[in-house]
Amino acid sequence: MIDTLRLTAEGAKELLDKKEVSGAELFAAYAGREDEYNAFLHRCGDPGGDGIPIAIKDIIGTKGIPTTAGSKILENYVPVYDATVIANCKAHGLRILGKTNTDEFAMGSSTENSAYGPACNPWDLSRVPGGSGGGSAAAVSGGLAPWALGSDTGGSIKQPAALCGHVGLRPTYGTVSRYGVVSFASSLDQVGPVAKNVRDCAYLYSIISGRDANDSTTVDVPAVELPTAEDLKGLRIGVPKEMNGVAGIEPGVTAAVSRALELAESLGASVEECSLPRSVDYGVACYYLVAPAEASANLSRYDGVRYGLRVDGDDFREMIMRTRDAGFGDEPKRRIMIGTYALSSGYYDAYYGTAQKVRTVIRREHEELFQRFDVIVSPTSPTVAFPIGAKIDDPVAMYMNDVLTIPSCMAGLPGLNIPCGLSEGLPVGLQLIGPQFAENALFRMAHALEQAIGFDVVPERLR
Ligand code: GLN
Repeated sequence: MIDTLRLTAEGAKELLDKKEVSGAELFAAYAGREDEYNAFLHRCGDPGGDGIPIAIKDIIGTKGIPTTAGSKILENYVPVYDATVIANCKAHGLRILGKTNTDEFAMGSSTENSAYGPACNPWDLSRVPGGSGGGSAAAVSGGLAPWALGSDTGGSIKQPAALCGHVGLRPTYGTVSRYGVVSFASSLDQVGPVAKNVRDCAYLYSIISGRDANDSTTVDVPAVELPTAEDLKGLRIGVPKEMNGVAGIEPGVTAAVSRALELAESLGASVEECSLPRSVDYGVACYYLVAPAEASANLSRYDGVRYGLRVDGDDFREMIMRTRDAGFGDEPKRRIMIGTYALSSGYYDAYYGTAQKVRTVIRREHEELFQRFDVIVSPTSPTVAFPIGAKIDDPVAMYMNDVLTIPSCMAGLPGLNIPCGLSEGLPVGLQLIGPQFAENALFRMAHALEQAIGFDVVPERLR
């Protein structure tokens, strides 16, 4: 029997290479598992071949396969081309298991903003899997896929990985193509791997990263090395005091992160307190100007003409208004209004202009730290997975889920989540942030720590 809860992508490849399972058997093992998490919005049949199966966040365009971005406005949209990351996956033989649930247009931290109902957490079905990439997270944790692609604008790979207890990388901005990916906030959006362990994460990153002629913001990346490191000798870890052990971070989360830092020291790393005062204070506010501003521009393309839904009206203007009213949920509407306001003449300098300046301050604050440290460590999420419904009526409480993931996203830096323990029986995530293009270094240290921590990624209720 194929244990889809434990099998890694690397393990799956080995089984295929040794011909211990056929491609069809492997695909069927995942496709045949019941989706009790609403993880998938669409499941695919086996396209044939013997590559590793993969789940894809429904924000990523897939030729001939519905791509909804979790929105009613794209309910019947079927792309006529593949996103570059999908083309890369196919070039490596990967086979798409299906499209995973997401907050509408990747706006959210719980998948409760999905127009197709929330996904739930494989550790506790009454709790959220995080968001926006909760579907990919639940699919990987729940044994419905060996790995998955997510996308991260302000935390949508890292935070769900933390809440579901697996590994997720938000890559350095510009290392993974956004071509064919539904745009939310273009200066922040990055596609990245969701995996059961760090080696799989590195392997998938090697498949999707690199320069793409169709996305002029991409660059060539250093060759990806699959990590084997077992110690952290010489590694300098910075622990920003504003991101560790402060009010708002659950004590159980702080305790698990402290234990991981002690382990890191015992593996040879030095651990020193540092500070990111403005990044943490202003990060979320700055993000909620920049991201909605870009979203308001990006979402103007959904007009009833170019894509998906159309609700007829007596004239063109009325048709657009009715289409957008019916097609967008509350959160995209809220962000379109905030973003349009922030960009409106007379307010542009005060809001968008100021936010851009603050963003530069955040980037510089991080740059300075990386002169003294190789990596910055904090919890990924201030809390463990919360009950479905707990924060849905309070947008600001929901936004604060990302207070620890947003600053490094604003700075364009790579961030990796690994599970570091349990609090109240639920996974706690450790966030490792590196300088630009330091993915290989992050993989090495995360791999060494992962071995030492020995976290069991299979949810307790499924063991
Ligand atoms: N939760 C954040 C938001 O709502 C980040 C989402 C994301 O990274 N796509 O915008």
